[in-house]
Amino acid sequence: MKRETNHKRGVLTTEDYIVGVKNNNRAILARAITLVESNAKRHFHIAQDVLSALIPETGNSIRLGITGVPGAGKSTFIEALGIMLCEQGFRVAVLAVDPSSSLSRGSILGDKTRMDQLSRHPNAFVRPSPTGGALGGVARKTRETLLLCEAAGYDFIIVETVGVGQSEVTVRSMVDCFLVLMLTGAGDELQGMKKGIMEMIDIMLINKADGTNIQKAEQAKVELTRILHYLPQTSEGWQPEVQTVSALTGKGIKECWKSIETFTEKMKQTQQFEQRRKKQATNWFYSLVEEQLLLDFYSDKNVKSELPHLVKAVENGHISPTKAAFTLLRNMYKDDAELKQ
Ligand code: GDP
Repeated sequence: MKRETNHKRGVLTTEDYIVGVKNNNRAILARAITLVESNAKRHFHIAQDVLSALIPETGNSIRLGITGVPGAGKSTFIEALGIMLCEQGFRVAVLAVDPSSSLSRGSILGDKTRMDQLSRHPNAFVRPSPTGGALGGVARKTRETLLLCEAAGYDFIIVETVGVGQSEVTVRSMVDCFLVLMLTGAGDELQGMKKGIMEMIDIMLINKADGTNIQKAEQAKVELTRILHYLPQTSEGWQPEVQTVSALTGKGIKECWKSIETFTEKMKQTQQFEQRRKKQATNWFYSLVEEQLLLDFYSDKNVKSELPHLVKAVENGHISPTKAAFTLLRNMYKDDAELKQ
């Protein structure tokens, strides 16, 4: 039965994936992403081989991050911006980081029906958030998906997220330019915004500046510009911009695009663009090392058997936490040599 399914789908070799992604075969790109998103070990190894071969083809897009509370208009905005870019002949991929979907089984970012029009555009590729368990898993999958999309030749990769937990920080760590979509009532919104997020923003957009809301949006712009002025600059030589926009009518989308262009040009001129990417890549590397160490540690046979006793002993005050921790750490890989034989 399984063989029949495989036959129908056509089993792909590593080479098929590599060539397919390079040629922007969308069906193969989608399957390569599924491979990257898989939690199965055998998929992991193929995915890493595919990614390694494609690394020289990556790095040529502009990576944009977009955040905002549910209802701020993220999908409407991305659709408007995405279609504008697609119509200019660019190719646009939209990815999402939505750790909520794996935690609550309900997605805050919504399902595949979002950005319907953009999804159907031949120059666009819209992929919903992977359901990868913890944020760390989702982040790795999204980063690798981003690389696959770059290898497939997408000019712009937009990564969206809602501010759940650390997801904004995660998205900031994988993009060149970070935008936040706000609504009017700026003071209230700022109070709801987590500390530190304001300092990661390159461009702030006050959405829904249409109809009777225009004046309020303009007021919010003045207020937010003033507040941003007092915060430390995210990027040297760049004062974060505040703009009003209507994702619904399209007003302000072009201007927003102009700001993104100006920002990236400036970052490239001052070498901050490259420096940021290098730093992001090394940070990613270190966080993978740390994640893997933790995983290996807690799945180690000896650690697993010793852990409950040590926890009890710590609870009952029979051993100091420091001594217990070092005892446990020494247990790791105790049988490694034996296991390898
Ligand atoms: P998301 O949850 O941030 O992705 O928000 P959506 O894009 O789904 O938008 C939430 C609601 O706001 C929808 O009903 C949109 O039609 C509406 N909306 C989005 N952008 C605008 C806008 O610029 N003006 C107005 N008036 N409504 C908008």
